[in-house]
Amino acid sequence: MKPQDIHDSRIQSLNDEDLRRGDFVLYWMQQSQRAEYNHALEFAVQQANQMGQGVLVVFGLMDDYPEANLRHYTFMLEGLQETKTVLGKRGIKMIVKKGHPADVALATGQKASLIVCDCGYLRHQRQWRKKVARGAGCRVVQIESDVVVPLQVVSEKAEYAARTIRPKIHKHLNDYLVDFKPTKIKKSSLQLRVSGINLNNIDTVLAKMSLDPSVVPVSHLFKGGPAQAGRIFADFLGQRFINYVANRNQPQTDDVSHMSKYLHFGQISPLYLALQILKTEKRFKEAQDAYLEELIVRRELAMNFVHYTPDYDAYTCLPTWAQKSLAEHKKDQREYRYTRRQLENAKTHDDYWNAAMREMKSTGFMHNYMRMYWGKKILEWSQTPEQAFKTTLAINNKYFLDGRDANSYTGVAWVFGVHDRAWFERPIFGKIRYMAASGLERKCDIQGYVRKVDALERQSRGASV
Ligand SMILES: Cc1cc2nc3c(=O)[nH]c(=O)nc-3n(C[C@H](O)[C@H](O)[C@H](O)COP(=O)(O)OP(=O)(O)OC[C@H]3O[C@@H](n4cnc5c(N)ncnc54)[C@H](O)[C@@H]3O)c2cc1C
Repeated sequence: MKPQDIHDSRIQSLNDEDLRRGDFVLYWMQQSQRAEYNHALEFAVQQANQMGQGVLVVFGLMDDYPEANLRHYTFMLEGLQETKTVLGKRGIKMIVKKGHPADVALATGQKASLIVCDCGYLRHQRQWRKKVARGAGCRVVQIESDVVVPLQVVSEKAEYAARTIRPKIHKHLNDYLVDFKPTKIKKSSLQLRVSGINLNNIDTVLAKMSLDPSVVPVSHLFKGGPAQAGRIFADFLGQRFINYVANRNQPQTDDVSHMSKYLHFGQISPLYLALQILKTEKRFKEAQDAYLEELIVRRELAMNFVHYTPDYDAYTCLPTWAQKSLAEHKKDQREYRYTRRQLENAKTHDDYWNAAMREMKSTGFMHNYMRMYWGKKILEWSQTPEQAFKTTLAINNKYFLDGRDANSYTGVAWVFGVHDRAWFERPIFGKIRYMAASGLERKCDIQGYVRKVDALERQSRGASV
């Protein structure tokens, strides 16, 4: 059953069923929404070739995906439209069907010999795969393709911090940073008589869905889809990678890759990105190391966190020392207090924070350095740390294109002490790391950042009229 090029450790049988005499191999696409560098897709192709069958790809489109709104759906559908076309050119039929993803997989899989799925890291994604494995009546195999090193290979527990997971990841990198070629298809599936919704006009698809329209799409800045991801990344490597080390904490610049949203929707593979980075010239060694630290160590630490922390989205996920310290300062006087609405409307006394909030709302993105400051201030300005946690996560997931990701839960939890150490005791924060506006003024051109956001906001306003 083991195909070429795919490590055993990426392959996991989700049930004990046998292969069935079906009409095709079904790849139920959910997390890895791409046609390239997709181990689950290639595994399905290799299995189908062995059985003399074609691969059918199905995607289940639900209206009420947890916390998703018009901005997220637009980006996702732009990507799915492209992926369907690219797969079609390779002789692989892809259909998108309305319905709960697990139900769509089960219904379409009734005539499948085998169901292959990709790996989702969040709670609901894991539950959906269990449901499909239980109900399929044929073998269901999960292939992990959205991390460089599979989670269980790295560690069997929640890691304390980057410093503890780093050596565990690094010792496997040579094994996993290997190129991965598509398998030639032996039998096309384009003739299969199954159909899904028409993706030619995304606006028509969106209009028929019941979505929260209050968060507007940002396609003028970030169009969804693997091709667009590839273009932005190539531009980053050609123009801005050289500045990555110096500027990755300088929010007034744009010397970052913008890959997180494409990674979130599985529109680009982290393995592909890492291999591209390693192909850059030797003089970029420092930038290579810095980028791979973020893309692999930090991102896969976040995957480790959500995988091994059952309550990753609740205040109780915080380390005991952090909860204790915050509890001791719960009654401390707050000089400023803001409601969620005031925060979302960027109506605080702090122009730097307001600019960060405006960047998030108008672009679906915020520079990492400002995300840290943004979260720390919500903790400082909320009535209780529990409320701050809830508010930060809710706003994060509402506006960011890369929200609702393992990185979202981990990033927000970091604000409250996860993967960090205890610092000097201070009001409200206790031993949690603090950030001050004066720090921004000292360490970066914060006025330049405010000007950058002003311009981005004008651009977004122009795009929406
Ligand atoms: C409060 C807070 C909230 C955050 N919310 C999210 C979120 O909702 N979604 C999200 O994807 N990231 C989140 N992050 C992490 C980080 O800010 C973003 O991943 C990063 O800014 C994305 O921009 P980029 O792709 O240009 O990054 P680059 O600097 O180009 O980095 C390349 C890739 O490395 C990974 N990466 C970079 N920084 C981090 C980091 N600090 N932790 C983990 N992985 C990292 C990302 O996958 C990123 O695409 C959050 C961080 C904080 C402090």
